[in-house]
Amino acid sequence: MKSHYRVVVIGGGVVGASVLYHLAKFGWDDVCLLERSILTAGSSWHAAGGIHALNADPNIAALQAYTIDLLPEIEKESGQSIGLHMTGGLTMAGTPDRWEWLQSAYRTFQSIGIEDCRLVTPEEAHELCPIMSPDGLLGGMWADREGYVDTTGTVQAYAIAAKKRGASVFEHTKVEALEQTKDGWRVITDKGVVTCEHVVNAGGLWAKQLGRMAGIELPVAPLKHHYLISDTIPQLEELDFEVPMTVDLEGFTYLRQDQKGVLLGIYEIDHEHWALDGAPWDYGMELFQEQTDRIENELILGFERYPALQEVGVKTWVNGAFTFSPDGNPLVGPVRGKPGYWCACAVMAGFLQGGGVGKSLAEWMIHGEPEADVFGMDVARYGKFAENRQFIRETTGQFYTRRFVMTYPNEQLPAGRPLKKASAYDAMSAAGARWGASYGLEMPLYFAPEGFEETPTLKRSNAFDLVAAECKATREAAGLLDISGFSRFEVSGPGAEAWLDRIMASKLPKPGRAKLAPMLSPTGKLKGDLTVFNWGDGTWWIMGSYYLREWHMRWFDDHMDDGVTVTDIADATVGFSVSGPNACKIMEAVTQDDIATLPFMGCGTFDIGMLRCKVGRLSVAGELGYEIHCSAAEHITLRETLLAAGAAHGIKEIGFNALLSLRLEKSFGIWSAEFTQGYTAAQTGMDRWIDWSKDFVGKAAAEAERAGSGPAQVLVTLEVDAKDADASGYEPIWRDGEKVGFVTSGGYGHTTGKSLAMGMVNQNCAAEGTELTMHVVGVERGATVIAASPYDPAGNAMRGT
Ligand SMILES: Cc1cc2nc3c(=O)[nH]c(=O)nc-3n(C[C@H](O)[C@H](O)[C@H](O)COP(=O)(O)OP(=O)(O)OC[C@H]3O[C@@H](n4cnc5c(N)ncnc54)[C@H](O)[C@@H]3O)c2cc1C
Repeated sequence: MKSHYRVVVIGGGVVGASVLYHLAKFGWDDVCLLERSILTAGSSWHAAGGIHALNADPNIAALQAYTIDLLPEIEKESGQSIGLHMTGGLTMAGTPDRWEWLQSAYRTFQSIGIEDCRLVTPEEAHELCPIMSPDGLLGGMWADREGYVDTTGTVQAYAIAAKKRGASVFEHTKVEALEQTKDGWRVITDKGVVTCEHVVNAGGLWAKQLGRMAGIELPVAPLKHHYLISDTIPQLEELDFEVPMTVDLEGFTYLRQDQKGVLLGIYEIDHEHWALDGAPWDYGMELFQEQTDRIENELILGFERYPALQEVGVKTWVNGAFTFSPDGNPLVGPVRGKPGYWCACAVMAGFLQGGGVGKSLAEWMIHGEPEADVFGMDVARYGKFAENRQFIRETTGQFYTRRFVMTYPNEQLPAGRPLKKASAYDAMSAAGARWGASYGLEMPLYFAPEGFEETPTLKRSNAFDLVAAECKATREAAGLLDISGFSRFEVSGPGAEAWLDRIMASKLPKPGRAKLAPMLSPTGKLKGDLTVFNWGDGTWWIMGSYYLREWHMRWFDDHMDDGVTVTDIADATVGFSVSGPNACKIMEAVTQDDIATLPFMGCGTFDIGMLRCKVGRLSVAGELGYEIHCSAAEHITLRETLLAAGAAHGIKEIGFNALLSLRLEKSFGIWSAEFTQGYTAAQTGMDRWIDWSKDFVGKAAAEAERAGSGPAQVLVTLEVDAKDADASGYEPIWRDGEKVGFVTSGGYGHTTGKSLAMGMVNQNCAAEGTELTMHVVGVERGATVIAASPYDPAGNAMRGT
């Protein structure tokens, strides 16, 4: 072992080996992997090795598809057999809702380019998997690229291929401590000290401790997981093909062939955590005793679905542990405040996702950002709120148990909630608020009468009329919305203005003004759809999406200048917005200041009732609107003040569901839908806010795009000929049977009376009036490109003109 490497990867499971391979493949060969035992000695050796395409998050599904395609490549490159059995795979649905979801998911797959799937009837599925009983099944999805691998062979193949490209692997080398230096990290092992520029936590079951060695509390927890391997099944001996990797969604099981028997894996409803603070250091290649009582119900379902199992014995039980994050997706990427420390952990399906994780992380380390939008697995999607053990226990447990359970888009899951509540939470709950959670904060979705229960559905829900009434009130009178769930960063110091001018692509607002500000990466990709406020006293605010708080702080830190202080004030500063034609009258009733002359996009400090608040005149709803910011302790009073003054002007409390509908009617994009780090400013129309006369991060790339022939796809607004369901996102868009784009977001425009969607389509399909189709919950619907902003296209309402 040398005394210095550019990168030290800690952990020789499938994830660490893949990271090592990708670093070497992309040209960084001064890299080594340290493994405390032998390669695979964590979760990897006893995994079922299953690989399947389906994932509810399309970006993660795309990374899974990458991994599956990579597997034969690493086998060839390394010369090491990975025992790949590409049997194809089935995912089966046994309830009408689930079947509807599969049909919809099938279309999403088409959208993201996974084309080798098809829907099958229960009879077809039975032919493909003759040991499966089709009883009670309504349909399924077949995918060509599914199957299983030999787990040890796969890890070895990554490692051998990495070594062939110059990387080193050291087994029996335990990392005992990490120390940050000015140039990187000192890695203290039981075999001596190694220094490096970058260290990667690929510690799997020990990722928690490897985080703590660097002062980081990662939201990751191991859970136990069972599978059994059956004795030989005579029926399989008679087949001249292997049965496919089969997932029975209602049965909580997956099955694959194992020689002439099968492997049946179970996602236990009655889940069990293990070693919440990370596996013990002396944990070897051990298994836990099987706990058949705990999995009895799922076993019964499994034995009914595959009756042949009732006739043969169990050859082997495996009860092992692997790790989960709160949402089940990996924790990948750099950690704020720890330069050179990278995560590649909480990968719950390493054989399926490890390739994509390794590729993305290696690109990130080498080029500064991954090629794909990997926010779904970025470690920065969590913040301090997710460090708590009970939060981690509840959320990881919920994910595990619901691994095969469908979550409806309008369904709110209970684990880890309520965690953060704005002060007016109780008062709003008493007024009927129904809540969703984002980044730990409860946010009002809509208001409902006592006893109302929303039905989980893929289609329009029974809350449709409630949301419609909130939209109508906003357009005709005024809507009051709790906007505690926006991020707020205060920027101050002598260098504040120059720094903002450099990192934001737009002009900066003059004192007393706010401005929409795209933020770009050096490659011209979007890093934020932010609003910058110039309060006129040397302080500035940046406002954006609440759940991007850690993500944006990491970006700000990484691009910091001397003389600038950026403080995340979103826990301390909360607020309400008032939007609608009566908004100004309501504001005039609560302030003695001259609010009526505050111009559109103006901002300043106002006395509101007894409070002194910061106020901005802007509105995501596209109305005459004010965003009013107060301290957390003033939240209740601000609500009472505005409600009291608004009573005479038809004010109605609204939730974010109404706001989403109202903003769609204005064709206002939102982050994670129309705007992501996968798109450029020109693709999304954000370039209209760019100030080309100044220098800013990403300018060269944005200019190059501007000088070219334009992006291949652009953002459009569509009116959808929908019936009982609206588009939601990732639905494919077609013209004459050819896929020409996909939906970024959709919903019902309650005050325009139209089902609307926004989508990325090929340039030649973007003209107003173009007739297209799209799949909405699996059903093909007509869709016409319409002019942006079907509500108030001239913006008169918003400007108050
Ligand atoms: C029963 C079961 C079935 C599964 N089935 C599947 C499946 O079908 N498909 C699938 O994709 N996934 C499956 N998984 C999950 C899969 O096993 C994991 O996703 C994968 O193994 C995670 O790999 P990893 O590299 O992140 O972690 P690990 O395999 O845990 O590797 C981490 C490595 O880091 C080393 N390490 C930790 N700390 C240190 C230190 N301080 N110094 C040096 N080395 C250290 C450990 O010794 C270990 O080798 C299954 C898991 C179980 C338990």
